[in-house]
Amino acid sequence: MKLRCLDCAHTFPPTLRYACAACGGILEVVGESGLEPPPGLPAGMWRHAARLGVTDPAAIVSLGEGETPLLRAPRIERALPDFEGEIWLKDETRNPSGSFKDRAISAGISKAIELGARGVVCASSGNAGASVAAYAARAGMGAIIIVPAHTPDGKVTQIAAHGAVLLKVPGHYSRSYDLAAALAERHGYANLTTTFINPWAVDGLKLVGPEIRAQLGGRVPDMVLIPTGSGPLVEGVARGFAGAARPPRLVAVQAEGCAPIVRAFEEGAEAVTAWGMPDTIASGISDPLIGYERDGTRTLRLVRRSGGTAVAVSDDALRAAMRLLARGEGLYAEPTGASPIAALPRLLAEGLVPRGAVVVCLITGHGFKDGRAYQEMPARIHAVPAPDDLAAVARLCDAALAEKE
Ligand SMILES: [Zn+2]
Repeated sequence: MKLRCLDCAHTFPPTLRYACAACGGILEVVGESGLEPPPGLPAGMWRHAARLGVTDPAAIVSLGEGETPLLRAPRIERALPDFEGEIWLKDETRNPSGSFKDRAISAGISKAIELGARGVVCASSGNAGASVAAYAARAGMGAIIIVPAHTPDGKVTQIAAHGAVLLKVPGHYSRSYDLAAALAERHGYANLTTTFINPWAVDGLKLVGPEIRAQLGGRVPDMVLIPTGSGPLVEGVARGFAGAARPPRLVAVQAEGCAPIVRAFEEGAEAVTAWGMPDTIASGISDPLIGYERDGTRTLRLVRRSGGTAVAVSDDALRAAMRLLARGEGLYAEPTGASPIAALPRLLAEGLVPRGAVVVCLITGHGFKDGRAYQEMPARIHAVPAPDDLAAVARLCDAALAEKE
């Protein structure tokens, strides 16, 4: 195993290194450990330990991440009048801390421990921070988490519950990113920020592809829709389907209020430029990429190479998608997690979904993390001051059940 620069192909030994020493480019993990799955671990992605980068089984920190359900979405299919095909939901909310980040963090923290790290640092819009806090607690390590001051309460509470040192920084996510890099160096901690900075963490995301393929009975989907901040999950899905005869087209979904990759895609640009201050309810993909625009450019190339597209969705479309997921399919997703569903009408209108397509939507984060958007939606909540009056309560229920949505 080694680390290799995506830009200049320089290689480095498998250490904790966050950029190419020759050109500053993004590093990727080349090779796999071949490790026998260690006994005694919870069910999940470490069943495929041989494909990951950890060589010392004692270093593995697992809470049972990965191997999440893939659910057919019949009501969403019916809600899209022009759609003919299959829509599947890869329910990443079922990971231990409630988001797909657990895959990356389990892989990243385990490798960091193997390489001698004493503690971990992570800049996060919330979900990665919650994941790092949980896995650091599991490992008995110190953790410093840096989040933007406006991060949703659910995520902040979750991070703090695990005992991490939590720093709230004013402004957008990129300011947290810079501080995390500086603190990691100062403390000698591993940086588990889940942009493209930690190649061991990014490598842990590739197993989502083989999981989907196995769950589809060996079929490769035609399209995979991916909520996208800087885009390591796009990389993970691309890697996961590398070698398939016809890999899926990858669709990077961003919010209209923070869409640097979509903007570059639509302009036909070679490189992504940074966004200003994000303005969207989708906190999980509110990444303006200031100072690490190359991460966005990496994702842009992956999307283009796959024959896919990048699409931005409005906050109203996100709310409608959250409602459809929650009421139609029983899934409770945060705004970012619902973004692939929000993108479907747009892709259909633009003729980008072929007849009979098998479409997989990655539902990346749990609704528990950000209840605000749901609290503002119409709901069938009724105060019952006199619960002893059963006839009156039953009439109220009858009326409420009969209401048109
Ligand atoms: Zn390089």
